[in-house]
Amino acid sequence: MNTRRNVSKLLLATTNLGKIKEFCSLFEQIPFQITTPDKEQIILDVEESGSTFSENAYIKAIAYMKESGIISLADDSGIEVDALGGKPGIYSARYGGKSLNDKDRVELLLKNMEGVPWEKRTARFRASIVIAWPDGKAILKEGVFEGYIGYKPKGVNGFGYDPIFFLPQFGMTSAQLTKEKKNKISHRSIASKKILDHLQREYNKWETK
Ligand code: IMP
Repeated sequence: MNTRRNVSKLLLATTNLGKIKEFCSLFEQIPFQITTPDKEQIILDVEESGSTFSENAYIKAIAYMKESGIISLADDSGIEVDALGGKPGIYSARYGGKSLNDKDRVELLLKNMEGVPWEKRTARFRASIVIAWPDGKAILKEGVFEGYIGYKPKGVNGFGYDPIFFLPQFGMTSAQLTKEKKNKISHRSIASKKILDHLQREYNKWETK
């Protein structure tokens, strides 16, 4: 990265420490100084009222950008299960109600998949990432990670639905992959790489002006 000019800040529009860590490692080479709501002393509760992952990512990025005046990055992600008509989708984090934890949600999903044969257990993780600039510009990049809903939880890595997200190409669930391996192929990393490429191209154009 060229350091001749002052770099702009990029606010990660999330308070989830796991996501902050993941983004910091995915965006190590980014030509921006990464900051967080905590560091900027911003407290914001954004209602995710969109009907798609992309709409929710836009809503969050724009809300944080308006509050802070800083270029802001937000993501929204979840799992779509074909046999359930795409559910839980944008409700993945709240599937079955807010009182459930990750393990309860996995059990609920398995219960709702009882009797569904293997070939109909297809599913995918989807991630949308949006960066919103104070001048009104915004970009969206998406990533998809295909797999199957297994019959029982396996593996201890990852989070959320990873223990039942089976990957035929590896013969294991995404909770049995190492963090490094999952970070190379996941929906979030695919979307992040697209964002990174876009930012790098923009930065190079700006640098040569
Ligand atoms: P949000 O993006 O924070 O709104 O929440 C996404 C929800 O989708 C998480 O709480 C998980 O339940 C699920 N999810 C998203 N990405 C993953 C993943 O990589 N592994 C497992 N579950 C995921």
